[in-house]
Amino acid sequence: MKLAGKSAIVTGGSRGIGKAIVWALAREGAKVAFVYRSNKEAADQLVSDLELNQTEAIAVQADVSRQEDADKVVETVLDKWEKVDILVNNAGIIQDGLLATMSAEQWQDVINTNLNGVFYFCHAVTRPMMSARSGRIINMSSVAAYVGNPGQSNYAASKGGINGFTRCFAAEVARRGITVNAIAPGFIETDMTTAVRNAAEAEIKKKIPCRRLGTPEDIANAVLFLVGDDSSYITGQILTVDGGLTLGGL
Ligand code: NAP
Repeated sequence: MKLAGKSAIVTGGSRGIGKAIVWALAREGAKVAFVYRSNKEAADQLVSDLELNQTEAIAVQADVSRQEDADKVVETVLDKWEKVDILVNNAGIIQDGLLATMSAEQWQDVINTNLNGVFYFCHAVTRPMMSARSGRIINMSSVAAYVGNPGQSNYAASKGGINGFTRCFAAEVARRGITVNAIAPGFIETDMTTAVRNAAEAEIKKKIPCRRLGTPEDIANAVLFLVGDDSSYITGQILTVDGGLTLGGL
C-alpha cells in the first residue's frame, strides 16, 4: 500500500468526486479525515464503511468558506494524527446564471466556497507541512477555467483563480518538499452534473473524444498519482482529466 502511515484531509468528501478520492486514499492505506457540510447521516455511513475496510477515518462538519472552520479541521487532524501529509481541496459548488441577472450573492457564494476555501485550507496546512518538510496538496479546478461556458462566469473565475493560486503557491513551497498541483476535470457523473446530463447527455458525449462521461474514479486515480512518491518532481501543474473534451478537434 503506497500511502500507509500517511494522513489526509479531503474537503467535500461525503459524495461525488470527493467520496471516490476518500476511498482511493483509504485503499492505499492512508488515514482519512473528510469534510462534509450538511449530511451527517451520509458522512457517518461513509466512516462506518471505511472502518469495515480497516481504514482509520473521521468525518468533520465544516464550511470551507469559513477560515475558522478550516483551522478547526486542520487542528483536529493534527491533534489526532500529529501531521497532515495530504490535502485535497475538492469541495465546490455551482450557482449558474447569466451575468446580467447574476446576484452579488451568487457570485460571492461561489468565490467564497471554491476559491477562498482553497486559500483557507492551504493556509492552515502550510506551517505544519513546512515544518515536516513534506506535503502533497491537490486543488480541484475545472475545464470551465479554460472554456467559455455561458452562465458560469462565477464558477470559471473561481477555477481560473485556483489555477493561478496553485502555480504561485507551488513556487513558494517547493524547496520545503511540498508539491501543489491542480486537477481540471471535464464532465464527470456526479450530483453536480445531474441536471445537464438529464437535458443533454447524448450531445455531450458526442463532444468528448473518449465518447463517455468521466467517473469520480477517473479523477481519484489522478489524485492518487499526484499524491504518491512517483510524482515528487511534478509541482504547479494543472492536470486536465476530461477524455479529450478540451482538445478542440473537429
Ligand atoms: P458534488 O457532487 O456536488 O459534491 C460537492 C461536495 O462539496 C459535497 O460533498 C458538498 O458537501 C461539498 N461542499 C460544497 N460546499 C461546501 C462547503 N461550503 N463546505 C464544505 N463542503 C462543501 O460535486 P462534485 O461533482 O463531486 O465536484 C467536486 C469538485 O470537482 C468541485 O470542486 C467541482 O467544482 C469539481 N468539478 C466537478 C466536475 C463535474 O463534472 N462533476 C467537473 C469539473 C470540476 P454537502 O454534501 O454537505 O453539500
